[in-house]
Amino acid sequence: MKSRLEHFINGEWVASTGSETIDVINPATEEVIGQISSGTEEDLDKAVAAAREAFPSFSQTSKQERIDLLNRIADEYEKRKDDIIETITQELGAPIKMSEKVHYNMGLSHFRQAAKELEALEFTEKRGSTLITKEAIGVSGLITPWNFPTNQTSTKLASAFAAGSTVVLKPSELTPFAAIILAEIFEAANVQKGVFNLVNGTGEVVGNGISSHPDIDFVSFTGSGAVGQKITENGAKTIKKVALELGGKSPLIVLDDYDVKKAAKIAVGNILSNSGQVCAAATRTLIPQSMKDEFIEAVKEVLPEFPVGDPYDRSTYLGPLVSEKQYNRVQDYIKKGQSEGATLVVGGTGKPEGLDKGYYVKPTVFADVKNNMTIAQEEIFGPVMSILTYETLDEAIEIANDTIFGLAGYVVGEDNDTLLKVASSIRAGRITINQVPADYAAPFGGYKQSGIGREWGVYGIEEYLEIKSIIGIPS
Ligand code: NAD
Repeated sequence: MKSRLEHFINGEWVASTGSETIDVINPATEEVIGQISSGTEEDLDKAVAAAREAFPSFSQTSKQERIDLLNRIADEYEKRKDDIIETITQELGAPIKMSEKVHYNMGLSHFRQAAKELEALEFTEKRGSTLITKEAIGVSGLITPWNFPTNQTSTKLASAFAAGSTVVLKPSELTPFAAIILAEIFEAANVQKGVFNLVNGTGEVVGNGISSHPDIDFVSFTGSGAVGQKITENGAKTIKKVALELGGKSPLIVLDDYDVKKAAKIAVGNILSNSGQVCAAATRTLIPQSMKDEFIEAVKEVLPEFPVGDPYDRSTYLGPLVSEKQYNRVQDYIKKGQSEGATLVVGGTGKPEGLDKGYYVKPTVFADVKNNMTIAQEEIFGPVMSILTYETLDEAIEIANDTIFGLAGYVVGEDNDTLLKVASSIRAGRITINQVPADYAAPFGGYKQSGIGREWGVYGIEEYLEIKSIIGIPS
């Protein structure tokens, strides 16, 4: 059992003031792997007080001190590689290869990238007799989801530390152990006491407490739109700055000059990655009408290259969903796709053969999807691909943008001008051309109902900074 019943407050592991605990479940086995404490408002108050007390001194540290701190953290993170990989596989059900190649690396990259960005970031600018300075925003409350346990936490933490902001983190109660390892990493890296505080618990108590706490200046939240709305409403009472990274319904536009098998492989690999539990997943695949039949055949052909199964099997591409709740939610969407008239190409409801235990879902592909169907409009957060067709490029762009979301978009093709035209026309914060790997310096965040603000790289750090102007500097 991995239980850790203390919170990390003011540089120490302290017992919760409450007695309630939360079981953490391995979604591949449905077994309890450990427990955390369900934090109380009193625990949160203590953590906020510690962060407030640490703020004046931490915010005054030099840029070089914070670069050194971020690099020390990254060094300590590397020492915990095996633990991080194992923990994410256990609490999220992520295939071990994915934990290694994606989850572990993403967490590490944010700390290294923030150190690099800080080198170049100017905190003062002189314009005549006016001095413009950038100062740490104060105490930040960080609320994170379960789908990328080290990525979501590390991008926020690296940015906050780079800016000189002190923090209180509440990770998802479904995947808290990766965040507990981060706390241990910060201890080992000698993060000053009070700079980082971790309070585990539910969204209703700790998350809600963060968004309404008068001593928290900024809330950075990643998660669902419904909770994002609540956080914004709560934050409004004390005019808190709020950054939101929410859901998406991102299009992948396949251009007619692109190899159909290559396109199918990219589309399938994208939607099945992390079992479809990716906010930026390419959930709507837009294919030229003339390529439809060939594309569907190619999808069927490449699917066996992405096997679903035991996360510990190194050939597994997708494991279970994170929880029974997510499993049921995805089953309902599959039923809805069928009842609204989409054609089920592969998959469907129920569990994949031989995987009765665990929250496994069949990789599912729908064709003949119309953009007004529920499965094309709502975020499913599972391994469910919707294939839509278009006749002209303008129609493709129109369909791509016909959504309340605007987090990401993808385009594959051969002609550079067309690729760029499509990329520029999609109303979303991150567009990827021809499946290049992630760029940690590139800002990440949403247009429309996908969120407010940006994470990653220097734009992520800027979120944790206030801008001050001092006018009339005597010469
Ligand atoms: P969620 O909104 O239910 O939970 C996210 C976090 O908020 C958790 O820590 C949870 O405990 C907390 N929370 C719950 N209720 C709260 C409340 N009333 N006040 C404050 N905090 C509260 O989301 P989830 O199910 O954990 O994650 C899935 C959702 O997150 C999906 O919609 C997905 O698109 C979105 N997401 C977005 C991004 C992004 O970067 N845009 C990344 C990952 C996930």
